[in-house]
Amino acid sequence: MIMYQGDFELQDKCGIIGAYSHKKSKNISRSIYYGLYALQHRGQESAGISTHNGEKMSTYRGMGLVCDVFNNGNMDGLDGHVGIGHVRYSTTGKSEIENSQPFFSEFESGTIAVAHNGDIINSIELRRELKLLGYNFRSTTDSEVVCHLLTEEYSKTGDIVAAIKNISKRIIGSYSFVILINEDLIVVRDPIGIKPLVLGKKDEMTFVASETVAFDVVGANYLRDVEPGEILVINDEIKSYKMPMEENTPRAHCMFEYVYFARPDSIIDGRSVYNVRLNIGKTLAKEFPVDADVVMPVPDSAITAAIGYSRESGLQYGEGLIKNRYIGRTFIMPTQEERETSVKLKMNPIKSELEGKKIVLVDDSVVRGTTSKALVNVLREAGVKEIHLRVGCPPITSPCYYGIAMATKKELIASDKEVEEIRKTLGVDSLGYLDKADLVKCIGLGRDELCMGCLTGEYPTPLPENIEEYEANRC
Ligand code: SF4
Repeated sequence: MIMYQGDFELQDKCGIIGAYSHKKSKNISRSIYYGLYALQHRGQESAGISTHNGEKMSTYRGMGLVCDVFNNGNMDGLDGHVGIGHVRYSTTGKSEIENSQPFFSEFESGTIAVAHNGDIINSIELRRELKLLGYNFRSTTDSEVVCHLLTEEYSKTGDIVAAIKNISKRIIGSYSFVILINEDLIVVRDPIGIKPLVLGKKDEMTFVASETVAFDVVGANYLRDVEPGEILVINDEIKSYKMPMEENTPRAHCMFEYVYFARPDSIIDGRSVYNVRLNIGKTLAKEFPVDADVVMPVPDSAITAAIGYSRESGLQYGEGLIKNRYIGRTFIMPTQEERETSVKLKMNPIKSELEGKKIVLVDDSVVRGTTSKALVNVLREAGVKEIHLRVGCPPITSPCYYGIAMATKKELIASDKEVEEIRKTLGVDSLGYLDKADLVKCIGLGRDELCMGCLTGEYPTPLPENIEEYEANRC
């Protein structure tokens, strides 16, 4: 099996956007395109847009970055006042064009396209059931399973809200969906709100997106988050419905959106990601002070936390590593030497800023530890005297089943090692991890509003019995 290593060993699965112009003469595809640009950090494998002009649906998908996939030629073919878009990083299904999104399909009542952020963890059984009903699959992803479930249910009643309510009782996992069914835009967020989804408006246009940064680029205003368990039907009017769920169902927003995934300039579930990361850095400085010359981030995702550490501690902020932003992903190399080369491709040290210095190195998280270890070697070679690693996320001890391709349990460095052992393995002079309770405080939501499954092993949804099979099918 080929595995990939992302910037810091973690990858999210996808960004989504939906847009509806209440002025039907307006072509919405350019706004979706720009929104996808802003969401590019959430997935770089493929990109796609589906639009509807009142008569027909058009879809264009391709492998690669948004700028590689779309051009004036194919954008001209995407006409219509309503549409959805998707950028993908795979966690279920291989990285190939058949698995790119939006998924689209024709059925008796018209056309449907689905874009999904999340992971349906019981998709293997659901796929088997649908195959028995005669459905053919073009892809290997859970998102196509949802597309078929929806058409199956919608064909029975012709009521999309009833169809979504019915399938919500059957699918387990995390999901934010934008769905284009004929010329209606349907928006769905799972009952516990694991994945983010926000609602915005500009003039006669309504937008939904994984993050508010997609609104900023098109000049839309953030109105509110789509509520967990909410179904929005957007056409000439906007109607909100609730999924069947228990009163006071606890929320479980992914804490990793704040720690790592989301862009710092986004607002997620009412919290500024930038402020959360500043708080994380400040808390690390209070909890783990150290006599050092300078505080430095592992770029880019730990920059804000390092600024927070610097402000709180009074230590000078500096740059010791420069990130090469143009190399995308690299394969996990089989030997330590190759792994170090791969890290050097991404991070180059500035010797003059490092030689003879005692540094506080701030990182957003440590997953397998392989990247951190290689980075430590790079810094030592550059002449750093002492490395004090401060990590903005508590030890990750369990895998994520909700769309974050982290690692299996045995690959996680903290699954069977205490902090002191990890310190020795990484080769740093001191190591401080943010505490779980402090992380909750830094985010500013209640503990009962956050998913922390990968930190505690306690997950906010039931896990299917065959979870190992599901894990084996992830890539
Ligand atoms: S298990 Fe961890 S990474 Fe996965 S959704 Fe929960 S908090 Fe996020």
